Amino acid sequence: MSISQTFRYPDGVVPNTTALAFTLLGWPLGVALLVAAPWWLNALGFVLVVLTLVWSAYFIHEFAHMAIFRDGNINARWGAAMTWINGSCYAPFTDLRRKHMRHHVERADVLTFDARGFLLRSPAWFRRRRYLRQRGEHRCPWSPRSPRRQARHDPSPQDVAAAHGHAPL
Ligand SMILES: [Zn+2]
Repeated sequence: MSISQTFRYPDGVVPNTTALAFTLLGWPLGVALLVAAPWWLNALGFVLVVLTLVWSAYFIHEFAHMAIFRDGNINARWGAAMTWINGSCYAPFTDLRRKHMRHHVERADVLTFDARGFLLRSPAWFRRRRYLRQRGEHRCPWSPRSPRRQARHDPSPQDVAAAHGHAPL
């Protein structure tokens, strides 16, 4: 199978390859230019980062619809790569895709990200920090000393859960 047969539409080979290359290479280049010395390189980096973040989000949508490649696995792999560019990689691409299909079929925007499961699967140092925070032993070094202001700055998991309308994690 040639590379042009890999793509879903023959007239999409050149534009999609160009846009994917721009997104894949432009994002790290843009990030690198953000810390470059002359201001005009910072401005160029800003434009590159903004464009590649937007394009990667559009690509996630197209890969979710299996619109770029014929093979679903190739679409899923590229979709996962795009989630790593724009920071939506906390949820697996298959979950994002399933959610998006429900958005179209059921006309409902459902959440598929399991925050509780994510926290329970998190590294031990992260869970330990959360546990100390629950017991009130953790204090943010930048927060004020007043307990009332401390509570507002560093709310307990119960306060956070109540604010979001679910049981504490
Ligand atoms: Zn869609």
